[in-house]
Amino acid sequence: MGHCVVPEAEAILDKEFPVLDKGFVRLVDYMGGDERAVQSARVSYGGGTKSYREDAGLIDYLLRNSHTSPFEQIVLTFHVKLPIFIARQWVRHRTARLNEISGRYSVMKDDFYIPAPADVSLQSEDNKQARSEEALEAGAAEKIRTAFAEGQKAAYTAYTGFVDEGIARELARINLPLSLYTEMYWQIDLHNLFHFLHLRMHPHSQREIRLYAETMFEITKKVAPRCCESFERHILGGVRFSSEEVAEIKRRLGGDEVAGSLSGKALDRFEEKLKQGKQI
Ligand SMILES: Cc1cc2nc3c(=O)[nH]c(=O)nc-3n(C[C@H](O)[C@H](O)[C@H](O)COP(=O)(O)OP(=O)(O)OC[C@H]3O[C@@H](n4cnc5c(N)ncnc54)[C@H](O)[C@@H]3O)c2cc1C
Repeated sequence: MGHCVVPEAEAILDKEFPVLDKGFVRLVDYMGGDERAVQSARVSYGGGTKSYREDAGLIDYLLRNSHTSPFEQIVLTFHVKLPIFIARQWVRHRTARLNEISGRYSVMKDDFYIPAPADVSLQSEDNKQARSEEALEAGAAEKIRTAFAEGQKAAYTAYTGFVDEGIARELARINLPLSLYTEMYWQIDLHNLFHFLHLRMHPHSQREIRLYAETMFEITKKVAPRCCESFERHILGGVRFSSEEVAEIKRRLGGDEVAGSLSGKALDRFEEKLKQGKQI
């Protein structure tokens, strides 16, 4: 069977989905969809596409049992505009292919990220890698936003000054801040995209990258809706338990209210997982 055309994906090709104040995600191209996962899984015994229900069942079976290679047959190419501090987190995902704008070749645009007032928070007290969930009071948040904007303006004025003086672009740019927007083409197969989305849609991920991941998931649903449904059911909405936690669940199911081997932070983490599961 030849090229898969997915009308819902065709309809959003090239459309910019805004993220943050100046960023976006755009689906540039795709190869395959639900149908491709099914075709490639059935190739081993020569069976073609069956009923819609059987195909959805097969996709769910494959995902549930980590038969991941059919999902690698589906490929998506995105154009992403994002602040450099997010790009640094993004490029840790090594299974994608990317091409980024060159600050050696081009003059960087005057595009900087400033968090919305509701996103300006203090350092979290219980998570060293996160911000508090409570936003700063409006006046204090505005002061921080103004300071960000002034710093960005000063850095960009110095940058363009260097460029105008003929200083090499690869040097002129070195004092530009991490809040500067960059752009890249990013291509990845669906199996590895699910891995990226699982990590980056998680509440422990930084809010800004989470917003990109959530937008990309909405786009991916247009390309391969059945695969996304199974991913949501088994991975995104699922929770992994340790052997001690499984023992605790069995004890509770058996109606045994006596405290088990879990205590302190391990017990807190377990309760947190149960709450996470309930929300979905
Ligand atoms: C909430 C959060 C906090 C983080 N904090 C930090 C931090 O403080 N510091 C930091 O440095 N990073 C941090 N990271 C990045 C994290 O450690 C991973 O580098 C990143 O999430 C990419 O994951 P990955 O390697 O599984 O993904 P990918 O690179 O996409 O790889 C997918 C899978 O392919 C395999 N693989 C790919 N390439 C190789 C290879 N060369 N060799 C062997 N196996 C390979 C691995 O099995 C891997 O799991 C953080 C990530 C998250 C989500």
